[in-house]
Amino acid sequence: MRFCPRCGSLMVPASREGELVVLRCTRCGHESRARPVELQGYTLASRSPAEERTITTSHVSEARRRPAKTMEEWEQEREEYREILLEQLQEELEGAEE
Ligand SMILES: [Zn+2]
Repeated sequence: MRFCPRCGSLMVPASREGELVVLRCTRCGHESRARPVELQGYTLASRSPAEERTITTSHVSEARRRPAKTMEEWEQEREEYREILLEQLQEELEGAEE
């Protein structure tokens, strides 16, 4: 996450400048630049932080409550979760190209 050095508000991707992404402050309009690779986690998190946290939390608590799961089940669940994350990331990256 990036925050404005002037006013402390959240900075969001506004446009592209060659290899760089221009981040703009939502409040005062201050701009700074970042490489797209720095923003991959950022864009995922900014989309729906509550939802992301719910998924993660439920996985963790489930893991603690049900240690009797087989390795195959764990393997499958982890695979599915990774696919969802990759899909979301891909969407974000494609959206940023426009
Ligand atoms: Zn600002």
